[in-house]
Amino acid sequence: MKNLQASLRSLTWKTKAIAAGDFSQNIHYLGEFSEAFNNMTKKIESSILEIKETQEHLEMIFNTIPDPTIITSFNGEYLIAYNQAFLEDTKFTNEELEGMSIKITDLYVDLEERKIFLDKLQKDGFVENFELHLYNKIREKKIGLISSRILNIKGTPHILSVIRDVTEKKIIEKKLLESEERHRLLADNAEDVIWTMDLQGNFTYISPSVQKLRGYTVEEVMAQSQEEVLCPGSLIYLHKGLERAIQSVQAGLPFQVFRGELEQPCKDGTTVWTETTVSGIYKEDERFIGMLGVTRDISDRKVMEEEILRLSITDKLTQSYNRLKLDETLEEQLDLSKQASIPFTILILDIDHFKRVNDTYGHQVGDRVLVELVSIFHKNVRANDIVGRWGGEEFLIIFPQTTLDVGVDLAEKIRSLVEKNHFDSVGQVTISIGVSTYRKDLSPDSIVSRADTALYKAKESGRNRVEFYID
Ligand code: GH3
Ligand code: MG
Ligand code: MG
Repeated sequence: MKNLQASLRSLTWKTKAIAAGDFSQNIHYLGEFSEAFNNMTKKIESSILEIKETQEHLEMIFNTIPDPTIITSFNGEYLIAYNQAFLEDTKFTNEELEGMSIKITDLYVDLEERKIFLDKLQKDGFVENFELHLYNKIREKKIGLISSRILNIKGTPHILSVIRDVTEKKIIEKKLLESEERHRLLADNAEDVIWTMDLQGNFTYISPSVQKLRGYTVEEVMAQSQEEVLCPGSLIYLHKGLERAIQSVQAGLPFQVFRGELEQPCKDGTTVWTETTVSGIYKEDERFIGMLGVTRDISDRKVMEEEILRLSITDKLTQSYNRLKLDETLEEQLDLSKQASIPFTILILDIDHFKRVNDTYGHQVGDRVLVELVSIFHKNVRANDIVGRWGGEEFLIIFPQTTLDVGVDLAEKIRSLVEKNHFDSVGQVTISIGVSTYRKDLSPDSIVSRADTALYKAKESGRNRVEFYID
């Protein structure tokens, strides 16, 4: 065997040895990774036919094969010959391979696997793309796809193998598979709706949680147009956001993440508020290929936010608007009136001799009077009129798009209704009202102070009256 090894290192041996092989039947059954194998055997075959080929030429062919290629003894234990690619891949040097008496059994990670490979090879005469786990010199585990056939050298069977190192590829594949599975698993089970969209705006994936959010199945949503996915206002809002994001991509910058609150229609005819985050999907070559979105149901949060907002502008006792909302509305109305040149009119309403009510019936009864009074106001104003507590037992009513005359009439109507109302425990309660109207050179404060002046006049004039401010 030693002799044979030595002679195999010389290509004189190789030429003779391969010349003894049968190359007529091997070429067709070797798969994609065996191209090199085929090329080599073809070239060797033709070289044998043209026996004039030099030894150097053959050695060059063997070494030029891009995949590690080896010839081993039939039991697969002894390495007889190897090419340059094998050295590079295993990190061994020529000297080391010679020195370790070229027994390669140690390089197999799994001897059971090796047995299956050899059994198959010996049974069929060839093996194609068999996955083998091998160690390299520094005991790193490598995965190779091995294609082998039996080769007769001087009448003795040997194994010619081309090994394709697929370690990197397998690791990447495994990682990808794991991560895809993990992401899929996460997406499929997430409360949030996770979706992807291509550059044409078509959904490419939607997680099943969409049904819980909107009542539609994944298939139904897949078939929906953008107008069916989003309420009109939200569609415009999203388009604006995405336009910016895509512009930055076009400018060679990263996709700008979009985050916004969107209203979406549900199957039952209601709508649901969501918080949606959209980011860009890139291929490894950094090409922008689509969008990944995460959509979260924020109805509960919206309800809470709305409740907080409501509380912030509501008077606790009477549940009418508070001073904050009144100040805000006055500013708004002033702007609107300036734009449209349509006046608005305000009333300040103050309970007459309320101190007496408290003194006679107690503070709690007094509070109930305030509540009852507000309900009279609410019942007798339009939906977009603003009723609020200005402070204590004083109220403010704002009538948008209303002239002073109309305002005075409305004030008179309210005064009269209050006068006629029988308040629980207390009986009759009267109010005095001061009316003032918008004028473009006035500030909100001065409009209120004019109403106050009119109110003072009503009180002065005997209470249970309506007075208005005249320039
Ligand atoms: P006038 O006709 O001049 O308005 O007499 P009045 O007694 O209503 O006027 P005054 O401003 O002297 O007294 C207002 C009273 O309103 C004093 C205060 O105890 C009472 N008041 C203010 N806020 C509340 C409240 O939230 N609950 C109750 N029960 N009373 C209040
Ligand atoms: Mg008062
Ligand atoms: Mg009063």
